[in-house]
Amino acid sequence: MNQQTTKRRPVKLLSEDTVRRIAAGEVITRPAAAVKELVENSLDAGATEIKVEVKTGGKNLIKVSDNGIGMTREDVRLAVARHATSKLEAIDDLKGISSFGFRGEALAAIAAVSRLTIETNTDDAGPGTRLEVEGGDIREIGETAHPLGTTVTARTLFFNLMPRRSFLKSDNYELKLVAETVKNYAAAYPETGFELVSGGRILLRLPGCKQLKERLKELYDRQTVESFIELKVDNPLLSVSGFLAEPTQARRFYDVQAVYFNHRPVRSRVVVRAVYDGYGPVLGDRTPNFLLFIETNPSRLDVNIHPTKQEVRFADERFLFDFISEAVRKALGIRRSEQTGVDEFLYQHGLETGEGAGVQGFWQVHNSYILAQVTSGYVIVDQHAAHERILFEEVTSRRKQVSSQGLLFPVTVELSPDQFAAYERIGKRLAQMGIETKVFSGRTVVVETVPAGSYMGKAEIREFFAELASVSSGRAVPEIELAKLVACKGAIKAGQWLSQPEMESLINRLFACQEPHFCPHGRPAIIKITLEELNRKFGRT
Ligand code: ADP
Ligand code: MG
Repeated sequence: MNQQTTKRRPVKLLSEDTVRRIAAGEVITRPAAAVKELVENSLDAGATEIKVEVKTGGKNLIKVSDNGIGMTREDVRLAVARHATSKLEAIDDLKGISSFGFRGEALAAIAAVSRLTIETNTDDAGPGTRLEVEGGDIREIGETAHPLGTTVTARTLFFNLMPRRSFLKSDNYELKLVAETVKNYAAAYPETGFELVSGGRILLRLPGCKQLKERLKELYDRQTVESFIELKVDNPLLSVSGFLAEPTQARRFYDVQAVYFNHRPVRSRVVVRAVYDGYGPVLGDRTPNFLLFIETNPSRLDVNIHPTKQEVRFADERFLFDFISEAVRKALGIRRSEQTGVDEFLYQHGLETGEGAGVQGFWQVHNSYILAQVTSGYVIVDQHAAHERILFEEVTSRRKQVSSQGLLFPVTVELSPDQFAAYERIGKRLAQMGIETKVFSGRTVVVETVPAGSYMGKAEIREFFAELASVSSGRAVPEIELAKLVACKGAIKAGQWLSQPEMESLINRLFACQEPHFCPHGRPAIIKITLEELNRKFGRT
């Protein structure tokens, strides 16, 4: 970025309230994410009946009622506070945070970005408690009549986080995601009764039942479920059970591909790949239906790699891959084929294989701009400016140390006297921004890590030090200039191809930014074209 054209913008501290909303928007990204958290809480509370009610795909109303253990007045008050949980008692339990994701932040997050009401009772006699929260602030607390259990109602999601709200898809699409979420849990808890109501219409009514297969028949195509092959394998580290489609029953599109760790639905690319690997070439270009329940000691799992806890990482992913693919082969009676070379290569390089349809929501234009549809039109995002903004806010956020990623090959740079002087002046600040360095000898510096999620290679690291010398005015290197430089050098460049998940992640992170509209130098990062504008240009109005 050209320093001469840089516009100075005043530095402002984010208000407590803004920080709270932004953080909440990272956990609760859309109605289905709120439904997921609320249903999980109901299950944790031992509910045997859970009813989910939504209006307009959950945008205007999400209501989850259960007959679980309920909360006392004091519990409810605490439950909406950040980092309040009843699920970790001793400090030893802290590993539970990473294993089950009990971080006590879901209710607080929903409360921060909606108008929330909780009605609850710890028994069937006597009055219960009613609590009203708006944008995170408790408005009212009092008594109400409610049977044993809890009803949480979230209205007008993101009313105070407009960029997120405008990014939601159509009501139907959001409803589809909500329904998928409910189905995912219903498939894991057949004994629990579930109901899903949308705009007053009952979409699912699933009484509790004893047999998993019975429940699955209610959720998915009957014939598909009847032809399922059962899988069950135990090992001291893992036990896997579930159902797989007969290879000949695999079709062009699948109905269900669900993976559960300890009964929580998760996204696990490793497991999906392992399943495909297990089927091998018999699949051709078809996709199989499957549901896999993986049980393991929670200490072997890390669910917190993703703010929404949907992704999970197993302690030894290689082992997991081999174990699952072998289990699938055994269940299907397939011998290991010689022909796994390509899959193996793709897997090891973290590349996509044919996982079926994940969402075709973004388009990249000239490998530089991302187009995405929003409710009132479409937006064009400059990928470099957007990523610069994201990195800049990460680096300047004082909430945490920026996480770093190790370079496969540490980069050694020989600095000029000017550059070395600037490097020495910034000292520890570089490490706090995710760039860990060591002086090798004389003016030779070895760079070992770069900020996580950045695209800093050898060339960018050299540029970084070269420009560092020029932004250091006199003796000090201003904090903001340093942050801009890290962001600029670490950001994806124009001209770089991005996959759908990369685009999705970039846009999601951009929308969680305090100032998503501009890069740190003040150039626009997003341009919005409204449907009205298009209609006008095409002479439709
Ligand atoms: P976590 O589930 O990680 O503990 P949450 O923010 O989701 O965090 O919930 C906070 C606390 O509120 C829970 O630990 C639990 O004590 C209480 N709670 C939330 N939902 C319910 C519910 N449906 N029934 C009973 N207690 C609940
Ligand atoms: Mg929870």
